[in-house]
Amino acid sequence: MITEKIGNITVIMGKNNSRVPFSTSLVIESKEADVLIDCGGGAEVFQHLKKEFQIRSLYLTHYHLDHVFGAYLFKDEATIHINPYDYLKLNDPFELAKSSGMAGTRDKNELEKWINKFIKKNKPLNPDRPLWEPIIGIADCTYPYEKTINLSGTNMIMLHTPGHTEGFCCPYFPEQGVLFAGDYDLTSFGPWYNNADSDIDEFIQSSKRTLETDAKYFVTSHHKGWRSRDEYEKGLTAYIEKIYEREEKVRLSIQNGVSPEEIVHKGIFYFVENHLKNPNLMISEIVGIAKHIQRLIKQGYQYEDYSIEFMSHFNLTQEAIEYRSLPYYVTG
Ligand SMILES: [Zn+2]
Repeated sequence: MITEKIGNITVIMGKNNSRVPFSTSLVIESKEADVLIDCGGGAEVFQHLKKEFQIRSLYLTHYHLDHVFGAYLFKDEATIHINPYDYLKLNDPFELAKSSGMAGTRDKNELEKWINKFIKKNKPLNPDRPLWEPIIGIADCTYPYEKTINLSGTNMIMLHTPGHTEGFCCPYFPEQGVLFAGDYDLTSFGPWYNNADSDIDEFIQSSKRTLETDAKYFVTSHHKGWRSRDEYEKGLTAYIEKIYEREEKVRLSIQNGVSPEEIVHKGIFYFVENHLKNPNLMISEIVGIAKHIQRLIKQGYQYEDYSIEFMSHFNLTQEAIEYRSLPYYVTG
């Protein structure tokens, strides 16, 4: 297991170099109790956290499974906080289905089956296996955005940085100069904005906002521990460029007469072989391409007819590719 210390903040990489479905966590230590940020490191990390620290609070940056799947193991000893947009997503499977885009792309029977699984609340036999079931209903309360939260002497501000998902936040520790950039993760895959509640323009805006802090250390959720400001800034430019490359691929495909059925096999997001290995990725591919088509229309391209054809081919409602919820506040 890889851990690195920046002052009283410990960066703990997840299994397999924090590759999805695992992610990096932070522990903020104090004399009284320790705070954990995100909980998707895998079995070995969860064991280490229980043995070496006194975790009494857990702050989740957003609802994605790779960041939350171990939270049920800390439910008894820690208060679990999440952002105001994601509280209901972790408490109501229908909200989860709507924000992820699953509600709009599955038929009713399939959706019911998907949701019924949650009601059983099965716990995984192996904590290395991320499952939604034990996570539903896990959040105790919400944290505020943009306010200084005092964690037994360490100040943390949850910057609201939507785009990856609508509620996504980057925890910022001004005294230590640490920003948890999370899923603004600079991976070679490129930015991920493929849920119904993701937004491409907000993604670009929020990625800029991470640089408006005075952070010296940028911790990402996947692949690397922390990067210096210089490394992060350079990496971010190339990373955001991926968005424009994808959009150009979509534009050229439409211009060359590629049909909706074919465009989802053009490798805009995932390699074709990944789709064969995991057919669930197709929902993300479809939602991502639909968002790019609509973004191109906003830029003046006459793709309205293509968009209608694409949406009806995949039986998509507008809500399946663009979902917004209201913030919901629960005090702890
Ligand atoms: Zn995520």
